[in-house]
Amino acid sequence: MIQDNITKVLQNIESACKRSHRSKEEVLLIAVSKTKPIEMLKEAYEAGIREFGENKVQELCDKEEKVKDFKTFHNQPESTEKQPDNSTNDIHWHMIGHLQRNKVKYIVDKVTLIHSVDSLRLAEQIDIEAKKKGILVDILIEINIASEESKFGVKPSEAEELIREISGLSSVRIKGLMTVAPYTENAEENRTYFKKMHQLYVDIKEKNIDNVTMKILSMGMTGDYEVAIEEGSTMVRVGTGIFGERNYSE
Ligand SMILES: *Cc1c(COP(=O)(O)O)cnc(C)c1O
Repeated sequence: MIQDNITKVLQNIESACKRSHRSKEEVLLIAVSKTKPIEMLKEAYEAGIREFGENKVQELCDKEEKVKDFKTFHNQPESTEKQPDNSTNDIHWHMIGHLQRNKVKYIVDKVTLIHSVDSLRLAEQIDIEAKKKGILVDILIEINIASEESKFGVKPSEAEELIREISGLSSVRIKGLMTVAPYTENAEENRTYFKKMHQLYVDIKEKNIDNVTMKILSMGMTGDYEVAIEEGSTMVRVGTGIFGERNYSE
Protein backbone atom coordinates (compact mmCIF):
# COMPACT_ATOMS: atom_id res chain seq x y z
CA MET A 1 0.00 0.00 0.00
CA ILE A 2 2.71 2.48 0.97
CA GLN A 3 4.73 1.52 -2.08
CA ASP A 4 1.70 2.18 -4.32
CA ASN A 5 0.96 5.48 -2.61
CA ILE A 6 4.53 6.65 -3.15
CA THR A 7 4.41 5.67 -6.82
CA LYS A 8 1.16 7.64 -7.17
CA VAL A 9 2.53 10.72 -5.40
CA LEU A 10 5.70 10.66 -7.52
CA GLN A 11 3.58 10.42 -10.68
CA ASN A 12 1.47 13.36 -9.53
CA ILE A 13 4.62 15.36 -8.82
CA GLU A 14 5.93 14.58 -12.27
CA SER A 15 2.64 15.60 -13.92
CA ALA A 16 2.49 18.87 -11.97
CA CYS A 17 6.09 19.58 -13.02
CA LYS A 18 5.24 18.89 -16.66
CA ARG A 19 2.21 21.19 -16.52
CA SER A 20 4.37 24.00 -15.18
CA HIS A 21 7.32 23.28 -17.49
CA ARG A 22 9.60 22.29 -14.67
CA SER A 23 11.86 19.29 -14.30
CA LYS A 24 10.80 16.72 -11.71
CA GLU A 25 14.27 16.89 -10.18
CA GLU A 26 13.40 20.40 -8.95
CA VAL A 27 10.93 19.00 -6.41
CA LEU A 28 11.91 16.92 -3.39
CA LEU A 29 9.31 14.70 -1.75
CA ILE A 30 9.42 14.58 2.04
CA ALA A 31 7.48 11.70 3.59
CA VAL A 32 5.84 13.04 6.74
CA SER A 33 5.86 10.06 9.09
CA LYS A 34 4.54 11.68 12.28
CA THR A 35 2.44 9.32 14.46
CA LYS A 36 3.32 6.39 12.17
CA PRO A 37 5.19 3.28 13.39
CA ILE A 38 8.72 2.42 12.34
CA GLU A 39 7.52 -0.53 10.22
CA MET A 40 5.76 1.92 7.93
CA LEU A 41 8.89 4.05 7.63
CA LYS A 42 10.73 0.91 6.64
CA GLU A 43 8.24 0.22 3.87
CA ALA A 44 8.70 3.77 2.62
CA TYR A 45 12.47 3.38 2.81
CA GLU A 46 12.30 0.20 0.75
CA ALA A 47 10.21 2.07 -1.80
CA GLY A 48 13.07 4.54 -2.14
CA ILE A 49 12.17 7.31 0.33
CA ARG A 50 15.20 8.92 2.01
CA GLU A 51 13.67 12.18 3.26
CA PHE A 52 11.44 11.95 6.33
CA GLY A 53 9.61 14.75 8.13
CA GLU A 54 8.56 14.83 11.76
CA ASN A 55 6.96 17.59 13.82
CA LYS A 56 7.91 16.55 17.34
CA VAL A 57 11.41 16.47 18.79
CA GLN A 58 10.96 13.34 20.89
CA GLU A 59 9.44 11.36 18.06
CA LEU A 60 12.11 12.49 15.62
CA CYS A 61 14.89 11.43 18.01
CA ASP A 62 13.30 8.04 18.72
CA LYS A 63 12.85 7.27 15.04
CA GLU A 64 16.26 8.60 14.07
CA GLU A 65 17.75 6.04 16.44
CA LYS A 66 15.57 3.19 15.20
CA VAL A 67 16.11 3.66 11.48
CA LYS A 68 19.86 3.29 11.85
CA ASP A 69 19.63 -0.38 10.96
CA PHE A 70 17.54 0.13 7.80
CA LYS A 71 20.72 0.15 5.77
CA THR A 72 22.05 -2.99 7.40
CA PHE A 73 18.84 -4.69 6.36
CA HIS A 74 19.49 -3.69 2.77
CA ASN A 75 23.18 -4.58 2.58
CA GLN A 76 23.11 -8.25 3.37
CA PRO A 77 26.68 -9.04 4.49
CA GLU A 78 26.80 -12.31 2.57
CA SER A 79 26.10 -10.53 -0.71
CA THR A 80 28.72 -7.81 -0.34
CA GLU A 81 32.49 -7.82 -0.04
CA LYS A 82 32.61 -5.02 2.48
CA GLN A 83 30.68 -4.81 5.70
CA PRO A 84 28.10 -2.05 5.61
CA ASP A 85 28.93 0.99 7.68
CA ASN A 86 26.27 0.91 10.37
CA SER A 87 27.32 4.19 11.88
CA THR A 88 25.77 6.16 9.06
CA ASN A 89 22.79 5.85 6.81
CA ASP A 90 21.44 7.83 3.93
CA ILE A 91 18.23 9.00 5.59
CA HIS A 92 17.66 12.72 6.02
CA TRP A 93 15.40 14.10 8.74
CA HIS A 94 13.38 17.26 8.36
CA MET A 95 12.02 19.09 11.40
CA ILE A 96 8.75 20.54 10.13
CA GLY A 97 6.88 21.36 13.35
CA HIS A 98 6.99 24.15 15.88
CA LEU A 99 10.29 23.96 17.77
CA GLN A 100 10.79 25.04 21.36
CA ARG A 101 14.11 26.64 22.19
CA ASN A 102 14.87 24.25 25.06
CA LYS A 103 14.63 21.29 22.67
CA VAL A 104 16.90 22.60 19.94
CA LYS A 105 19.91 20.85 21.46
CA TYR A 106 18.40 17.42 20.89
CA ILE A 107 18.00 17.76 17.14
CA VAL A 108 20.53 20.22 15.68
CA ASP A 109 22.96 17.49 14.69
CA LYS A 110 20.28 15.01 13.60
CA VAL A 111 18.35 17.03 11.04
CA THR A 112 19.24 18.02 7.53
CA LEU A 113 16.89 21.02 7.59
CA ILE A 114 14.72 22.86 10.11
CA HIS A 115 11.67 24.16 8.21
CA SER A 116 9.96 26.00 11.02
CA VAL A 117 12.06 28.95 12.20
CA ASP A 118 9.90 31.99 12.85
CA SER A 119 11.74 34.07 15.44
CA LEU A 120 15.17 35.54 16.07
CA ARG A 121 15.26 33.96 19.52
CA LEU A 122 14.79 30.48 18.09
CA ALA A 123 17.43 31.09 15.42
CA GLU A 124 19.84 32.36 18.10
CA GLN A 125 19.32 29.18 20.09
CA ILE A 126 19.99 27.06 17.00
CA ASP A 127 23.15 29.11 16.42
CA ILE A 128 24.35 28.51 20.00
CA GLU A 129 23.78 24.76 19.84
CA ALA A 130 25.31 24.53 16.36
CA LYS A 131 28.46 26.27 17.60
CA LYS A 132 28.73 23.86 20.55
CA LYS A 133 28.71 20.99 18.08
CA GLY A 134 30.88 22.70 15.49
CA ILE A 135 28.30 22.42 12.73
CA LEU A 136 26.31 24.64 10.39
CA VAL A 137 22.55 24.23 10.48
CA ASP A 138 20.33 24.86 7.47
CA ILE A 139 16.98 26.45 8.15
CA LEU A 140 13.90 27.78 6.42
CA ILE A 141 11.85 30.73 7.59
CA GLU A 142 8.24 29.77 8.24
CA ILE A 143 5.72 32.23 6.83
CA ASN A 144 2.11 32.50 7.98
CA ILE A 145 0.99 33.33 4.47
CA ALA A 146 -2.75 33.55 5.15
CA SER A 147 -2.26 35.37 8.50
CA GLU A 148 -4.18 32.67 10.34
CA GLU A 149 -4.52 33.16 14.10
CA SER A 150 -3.93 29.48 14.78
CA LYS A 151 -0.74 29.15 12.76
CA PHE A 152 2.92 29.62 13.53
CA GLY A 153 5.13 31.60 11.19
CA VAL A 154 6.08 35.20 10.64
CA LYS A 155 3.87 37.61 8.73
CA PRO A 156 4.96 38.11 5.12
CA SER A 157 5.51 41.81 5.80
CA GLU A 158 7.94 40.98 8.61
CA ALA A 159 9.89 38.27 6.79
CA GLU A 160 12.65 40.41 5.32
CA GLU A 161 13.49 42.08 8.61
CA LEU A 162 13.66 38.72 10.40
CA ILE A 163 15.82 37.26 7.65
CA ARG A 164 18.24 40.19 7.86
CA GLU A 165 18.55 39.72 11.62
CA ILE A 166 19.09 35.97 11.40
CA SER A 167 21.59 36.38 8.55
CA GLY A 168 24.05 37.79 11.09
CA LEU A 169 24.29 34.44 12.90
CA SER A 170 27.33 32.58 11.62
CA SER A 171 26.28 28.97 12.31
CA VAL A 172 22.84 29.03 10.75
CA ARG A 173 22.20 29.34 7.05
CA ILE A 174 18.86 30.44 5.67
CA LYS A 175 18.07 28.34 2.61
CA GLY A 176 14.54 29.44 1.81
CA LEU A 177 10.95 29.72 3.00
CA MET A 178 8.27 27.35 4.23
CA THR A 179 4.54 27.65 4.75
CA VAL A 180 1.61 25.59 5.93
CA ALA A 181 -1.29 26.80 3.79
CA PRO A 182 -4.83 26.85 5.18
CA TYR A 183 -6.68 23.56 5.44
CA THR A 184 -9.06 23.25 2.52
CA GLU A 185 -11.00 20.63 0.59
CA ASN A 186 -10.32 22.52 -2.60
CA ALA A 187 -6.63 22.96 -3.36
CA GLU A 188 -7.35 25.72 -5.87
CA GLU A 189 -8.27 27.95 -2.93
CA ASN A 190 -4.64 27.89 -1.85
CA ARG A 191 -3.24 28.88 -5.22
CA THR A 192 -3.19 32.58 -4.37
CA TYR A 193 -1.26 31.84 -1.16
CA PHE A 194 1.29 29.75 -3.04
CA LYS A 195 1.66 32.54 -5.59
CA LYS A 196 2.25 35.02 -2.76
CA MET A 197 4.84 32.71 -1.21
CA HIS A 198 6.67 32.38 -4.51
CA GLN A 199 6.65 36.15 -5.00
CA LEU A 200 8.05 36.70 -1.50
CA TYR A 201 10.75 34.09 -2.20
CA VAL A 202 11.74 35.81 -5.45
CA ASP A 203 11.69 39.28 -3.83
CA ILE A 204 13.98 38.14 -1.02
CA LYS A 205 16.27 36.31 -3.43
CA GLU A 206 16.69 39.53 -5.38
CA LYS A 207 17.89 41.39 -2.27
CA ASN A 208 21.05 39.22 -2.26
CA ILE A 209 21.36 39.26 1.51
CA ASP A 210 24.74 37.99 2.76
CA ASN A 211 24.63 34.43 4.16
CA VAL A 212 21.11 33.92 2.79
CA THR A 213 20.20 31.80 -0.23
CA MET A 214 16.70 31.29 -1.58
CA LYS A 215 16.92 27.80 -3.04
CA ILE A 216 14.15 26.01 -1.17
CA LEU A 217 10.45 26.79 -1.16
CA SER A 218 8.80 24.23 1.11
CA MET A 219 5.04 24.23 0.46
CA GLY A 220 2.34 21.77 -0.40
CA MET A 221 0.84 18.88 1.62
CA THR A 222 -1.40 15.94 0.72
CA GLY A 223 -4.37 18.13 -0.17
CA ASP A 224 -2.58 20.71 -2.26
CA TYR A 225 0.95 19.70 -3.30
CA GLU A 226 0.18 19.64 -7.01
CA VAL A 227 -1.04 23.23 -6.97
CA ALA A 228 1.96 24.19 -4.82
CA ILE A 229 4.32 22.69 -7.42
CA GLU A 230 2.56 24.55 -10.22
CA GLU A 231 3.29 27.73 -8.26
CA GLY A 232 6.97 26.99 -7.69
CA SER A 233 7.33 24.70 -4.67
CA THR A 234 10.66 22.86 -4.45
CA MET A 235 9.78 20.65 -1.45
CA VAL A 236 6.46 19.02 -0.75
CA ARG A 237 5.64 17.49 2.64
CA VAL A 238 3.24 14.59 2.20
CA GLY A 239 1.96 12.52 5.12
CA THR A 240 -1.57 11.20 4.61
CA GLY A 241 -1.03 10.64 0.89
CA ILE A 242 1.77 8.18 1.68
CA PHE A 243 0.98 6.65 5.07
CA GLY A 244 -2.81 7.07 5.26
CA GLU A 245 -4.92 8.99 7.77
CA ARG A 246 -3.40 9.72 11.16
CA ASN A 247 -5.12 8.55 14.32
CA TYR A 248 -4.36 10.86 17.23
CA SER A 249 -6.65 9.10 19.68
CA GLU A 250 -4.36 6.13 20.30
C1 LIG B 1 1.50 16.91 9.18
C2 LIG B 1 2.21 17.91 8.36
C3 LIG B 1 2.34 17.74 6.97
C4 LIG B 1 1.71 16.59 6.19
O1 LIG B 1 0.32 16.71 6.18
P1 LIG B 1 -0.61 15.77 5.25
O2 LIG B 1 -1.82 16.58 5.02
O3 LIG B 1 -0.86 14.52 6.02
O4 LIG B 1 0.15 15.51 4.00
C5 LIG B 1 3.06 18.68 6.27
N1 LIG B 1 3.64 19.74 6.88
C6 LIG B 1 3.54 19.94 8.20
C7 LIG B 1 4.22 21.12 8.81
C8 LIG B 1 2.83 19.04 8.99
O5 LIG B 1 2.74 19.24 10.31
